[in-house]
Amino acid sequence: MGDSGNRQARPAVHLSSPIERLQGIGPIMSSRLREMGIGRVEDLLFHLPARYQDRRKIWRVRDLRPGMEAAVQGEIVQISRNPGRREQWLAILREDSGTLPVRLFHLAPGVRQQWIPGRRLWCFGEIRVFRGGLEMVHPEWHSLEDGDFQVPEFLTPFYPSRDGIHQNQWRRWIARALQLLPELEDPLQAFLPPPWPSLAQAVLSLHQRNHEPSDVRDPFRERLALEELLAHHLALRRERARTGSVRVLPLSAEGHLWQALQKRLPFRVTMAQQRVIDEIVQDLSRPHPMRRLVQGDVGSGKTLVAVAALLHAMESGAQVAVMAPTEILAGQLARRLQEWLAPLGVSTAILAGNQGRQERQPILEGLRTGTVAAVCGTQALFQEGVEFANLALVIIDEQHRFGVEQRRRLLVKARIPHLLVMTATPIPRTLAMALHADLDVSVIDELPPGRQPVETVVLPDSRREALLERLHRRLAAGHQIYWVCPLIEEQELLQLRAAEASFAELQELFPEYRVGLVHGRQPAEVKAAVMEEFRAGSLHLLVATTVIEVGVDVPNASLMVIEHSERLGLAQLHQLRGRVGRGSVRSTCVLLYHPPLGLRAKERLQVMRESTDGFVIARKDLEMRGPGEFLGVRQSGDRQMRVADSVGDEDLLELLPGLAHGMESGDRGAESVLVRRWLGDSAEYAEIG
Ligand code: ADP
Ligand code: MG
Repeated sequence: MGDSGNRQARPAVHLSSPIERLQGIGPIMSSRLREMGIGRVEDLLFHLPARYQDRRKIWRVRDLRPGMEAAVQGEIVQISRNPGRREQWLAILREDSGTLPVRLFHLAPGVRQQWIPGRRLWCFGEIRVFRGGLEMVHPEWHSLEDGDFQVPEFLTPFYPSRDGIHQNQWRRWIARALQLLPELEDPLQAFLPPPWPSLAQAVLSLHQRNHEPSDVRDPFRERLALEELLAHHLALRRERARTGSVRVLPLSAEGHLWQALQKRLPFRVTMAQQRVIDEIVQDLSRPHPMRRLVQGDVGSGKTLVAVAALLHAMESGAQVAVMAPTEILAGQLARRLQEWLAPLGVSTAILAGNQGRQERQPILEGLRTGTVAAVCGTQALFQEGVEFANLALVIIDEQHRFGVEQRRRLLVKARIPHLLVMTATPIPRTLAMALHADLDVSVIDELPPGRQPVETVVLPDSRREALLERLHRRLAAGHQIYWVCPLIEEQELLQLRAAEASFAELQELFPEYRVGLVHGRQPAEVKAAVMEEFRAGSLHLLVATTVIEVGVDVPNASLMVIEHSERLGLAQLHQLRGRVGRGSVRSTCVLLYHPPLGLRAKERLQVMRESTDGFVIARKDLEMRGPGEFLGVRQSGDRQMRVADSVGDEDLLELLPGLAHGMESGDRGAESVLVRRWLGDSAEYAEIG
C-alpha cells in the first residue's frame, strides 16, 4: 500500500502532519480515520485502547482453565475436518505438558497449507469446555517457522475501531506515531507538581502496558483524564468569556402575559420559583446573552419557570424555541404550553419527526417569517436548518439527557442569543463549577406545598400476589398506575418481551380496567397517543419501558411499580419515582427485585427507601458510581469523553479551576493546544446573535 518505492520523496512526518503522511495510510484509510475524528498524526496517540489482552505468557496446556484467553505454543499432530460442519476444522496441538484441540473456522486455502502436521505454531484464543475436555476456539496464530514472529513484549492493546480498520493496522500506525513522542507538546506539565507523570509518559504507558490498569487510580490514566477534563473546562470558560463580550438586544417586557397566566393558575408560584424567575428576567434584560442552568429536583416545577421566561421573551416580540430530549417529551411539553398559553391568546407550535410535509411546511414558514413565536421540538430543531426570524431564547429541558459536550456543540453550531437549560440532576458544587463553567446556576430548592413524599416499598418479586391486591385497591379508588419494565440496552428485545408479557398478564388480571403499553420501539405517534390516553385518564394502568423516565406529568398516577429495580441506577430510579407524588394524594413506589440481591443493588434500593431528596440521592450516586457516568457524559450514546468517563475522577475536577486560571494567565497558545487536542477543530468559535 504505497509503503515502498521512492522513500526519499516522502516528506518528513511530524505529530502535526496530516494523517496521510504516515507510512501505510492511503486515501481510503485516511478518509476512514478522518470520519473518526483522526486527522493529524498526533490524534493517533490519543486514540486509546479500549482493553488489553495478555499474550506475553506461553501457557502450559495443563495449566489452562475454561474462560481464559491464553497463548499456547506447540506442534500440530493432527488436523481434520469437522464431519458435522464442513467449514470447521479441528487440529490437535501438542506441547510438553499435553495436547490441546484447536477449533478453526473457514481455513482459507493458502492458510490450510500452514496447518499441517509437523508445523509449529503460536496460538492465542479463548479456552472453552467441549465434551468434557478443553479446547481453544478460533485462535489468532503465527507460524513459529517464519523467523518474523516474536512473543509480544507488552499487553496487546485493542483500539476502538470501525469497519475496514483492522486492529493490526491501529497497532502499526500507533507504533509509528509513538516514535514521534518527543515532539509532543505538553503545556500542562509546567503547572503540575512532581509526582504527576509527563503527558508523553502517560501516552506511552497506555499504548505499551506492562500490567493491566488495575484501577482508575492509575497515575497515567489520571494524567490523561485530567488533561481531557481541563480541555473541556477551558473550552467552556472560553465560551463564557466570549458570550460576556457579545452584545444582544435586551428583551424588555412589562410582564403582562406572565401576570395573566399567574391569575389563571390554580396555585401560587413558590418562593424558589419566583427567585429563579427573577434571576432569569434580569439576565434577559441585559445586553449580553444569558447562559443559565436551572437545577430543581423532580417535580419542583421547572416547566412553569421556563414558561415565565418564554412569556417574557414573547412579550418583547422575540421567538422562543423549546427543546426536549425525546419526541414524547417534546410532545408533552407542547401540549402543556398549549394548555397554559392558549387562553392568553398565545399559540405554540411543535415540530416532530412524524409530521408530514403538509403539516411542517406552514410551521417552518411561520418560524422563518416570524408569525410563529414559540416552537417545541427535539434536537432536530437545530439540526435540520430550521430558520428563525428573530430567535431570542432557547430553552433546553432535561439537559442532563443531552450531556455537556452536546450542549457546547449546539452553542457553537446554532446562533443562540439567550439560553436557559433545565435539569433535574442536582450537581455538587465542584462538579458544577468544572462542567458548567459556561453557565450561571439557579437552584429551585423547594417543592410546591402539599406534596406528600412518595412512600417507597422494596419487595422481592415473589410477593407479586400481595402487590396485585394493592393494585386492585388503587384502581378501585380511581387512581392510575405506572408499571415499569426497565430496558437494558443490550437486551432490548428481551426486555421488550418482558414488557409485553407483563402487559398481557395485567390485562388479564384487570379485565375491568384499561391497560396500555408504551415502549421505545413504537413509532413516535403510537407512543404519543398512548401517553395522551394515560394523561387524559382513559387508560388506568400503563405498562412502560423506561421511556417514561423523564418529564412525564400525570398527577392522578399515584402508584408506580418498577420491575427488576435492582438493575437500575439511582439517578434513573429517582427520575422514575418522580413521576408519582405529583398530585396531592399520597403516592407509593414499589421497587420489585429478583433475589438474590447483589451488595451494590441492595445499597441502592436502601438509599431509595430512605430518601426522596434528589441532592442526597445524587450524592450517594456519585459515591457509588463516579462523576463521569453520573453526569450523563455517556448516557447520550455519543461518546464525549475518551478517558475521563470512569469512576473516581471527582478529585481531578477540583484541580480544574486553579489549573485553568494558571494556563489562561500564561501563553494563550497553550490553552489552544489542549482544546484542539481533546475536542478537535470543531471546538472553534461559537457565533452568537
Ligand atoms: P419538573 O421540575 O419535574 O419539571 P413540573 O414542571 O413538571 O416539574 O411540575 C410538576 C407539577 O407541579 C406539575 O403538575 C405542575 O403543574 C405543578 N406545579 C408547578 N409549580 C407549582 C406550584 N408553585 N404549586 C403547585 N404545583 C405546581
Ligand atoms: Mg420537567
